[in-house]
Amino acid sequence: MERTELNILGEFGLIERIASQSQVHNSTTIKGIGDDAAVVVADQGYQLLSTELLIEGIHFDLSYVPLKHLGYKVVVVGISDVLAMNGIPKQITVSIGLSNRFSVEAVDELYSGIFAACEDYGIELVGGDTTSSRSGLILSVSAIGTVEKEKIAYRKGAKLNDIICVTGDLGAAYLGLQILEREKQVFLDAPEAQPLLAGHEYVLQRQLKPEARLDIIKQLSDLNIAPTSMIDVSDGLASELRHLAAESGLGVRIFEEQIPIHQKTYLAATELKLGPFTAALNGGEDYELLFTIRQEDYQKIMDHTTDISFIGFMSADPSEAFLITKQNEAIPLTAQGWEKSEDA
Ligand SMILES: [Mg+2]
Repeated sequence: MERTELNILGEFGLIERIASQSQVHNSTTIKGIGDDAAVVVADQGYQLLSTELLIEGIHFDLSYVPLKHLGYKVVVVGISDVLAMNGIPKQITVSIGLSNRFSVEAVDELYSGIFAACEDYGIELVGGDTTSSRSGLILSVSAIGTVEKEKIAYRKGAKLNDIICVTGDLGAAYLGLQILEREKQVFLDAPEAQPLLAGHEYVLQRQLKPEARLDIIKQLSDLNIAPTSMIDVSDGLASELRHLAAESGLGVRIFEEQIPIHQKTYLAATELKLGPFTAALNGGEDYELLFTIRQEDYQKIMDHTTDISFIGFMSADPSEAFLITKQNEAIPLTAQGWEKSEDA
């Protein structure tokens, strides 16, 4: 494959190359890349601003993550936090630190993923910075979005007896990562061995190309439902639930049998001898939305949406965070290893 060194292009050449591929999807973007700052129209309501930093070797491993997927995922990770405030993402900036290990073609791959995500979510890249890095790849994404004042969803807004909802399914991204780690180890031990990835496409996709739940935010808006509190599931269900509970000054009770886990997640868990519920509770990187609704909104969501599970409710005692098992036992959400993998 062709390899063009970055220094042939130079920083300005690289920025021009990126800018020429950027497309505008929002009328609120007045000026994107190409001046000292991007210019956007300040909508009515609140502006949301969120930043994520991802570092090679800490947040991603380029020995099994394709650059295009990484670009896509960086955007998803960035806009997921805007969605978690019940907002609509509009613009992003992306900054990168690159070592000379990366060619122009590699940077193109990365940005092809970034632009694919921009297209899918109707947002645009309006700026960023590029710099050289001594060692690994560094990526920072900032997302800008808007939300109507009366619809903003903080972590702190849950009320007693509100129903806890979660979108999609959980635990798959973590198991996808475990499969990739396993195969990397096999490869390091015996490079001629064929990777055993077949049958695990679902969990691998959930790890490598997660999706942000813009669709759910739009559905809730169409139903005129504002979640009373919300957070995105980046660190695992248990930890996100504890955030909602602590910020809202309440307890939580969730039911094991209501936690959405994909059939392929059970399969991967069995093969890896890991508990599927432990993966769902503590795995992370699912980028689903966890939120609470008033009891009176339950029927509307039940009747008009499909990808939302009702997993529990907010309880009065702020010191309790319980998982109620199928055997009706109450287990603290902080407990590790309660689930034996043989049960899977
Ligand atoms: Mg978040």
